Amino acid sequence: MILILIGAPGSGKGTQAEYLRKKYNITHLSTGDMLRENVKEGTELGNKANEYMQRGELVADKLIIDMISERTTRDDCKNGFLLDGFPRSLPQAEALDEMLLEKGLELEAVVNLMVDEEELVKRLLGRGRSDDNEETIRNRLNVFREQTSPVLDYYKEQCKVKDIDGVGAIEDIFERIIGALD
Ligand code: AMP
Repeated sequence: MILILIGAPGSGKGTQAEYLRKKYNITHLSTGDMLRENVKEGTELGNKANEYMQRGELVADKLIIDMISERTTRDDCKNGFLLDGFPRSLPQAEALDEMLLEKGLELEAVVNLMVDEEELVKRLLGRGRSDDNEETIRNRLNVFREQTSPVLDYYKEQCKVKDIDGVGAIEDIFERIIGALD
């Protein structure tokens, strides 16, 4: 099973990704985590990506697409994978379609975890991190919305998007996702 999970910062995406990974026995692929790993190890990719990441800007599509192409050919992706943080642009979505077609694979669904902005701000402020003041939070949410909406529209045209109400108890939200996928 191949899934894309889309959710704003504070939407509970990480928690649901973990539940989905276990339930479907698929590998959780977060492009943000993969990039941070590369930065830590000082790889060529990490060095190229780092300055963009520091500014909160998107890393070049080609670097991301190559990284995902390579990663998904590994053994632990044979049973499927859950993409988190990818695709973040139309060229990435198109490249993913092409890649899946070449491999004879099909995208099952795009899970869109929806939480309204006031709730997100409340949750993120509650984390109490130093960079979590209301202004930077709203900015991150704006960036997320701007980046994500063309990608969501792209998959809506393919009828792949499952809109999930992301407010409530963790288990209830998970049940909603499972219900939408079955
Ligand atoms: P994240 O942990 O998903 O918020 O990603 C952290 C940073 O990594 C982002 O701010 C981007 O600079 C970069 N990044 C992660 N995923 C992508 C992607 N699919 N395309 C471009 N840049 C990305």
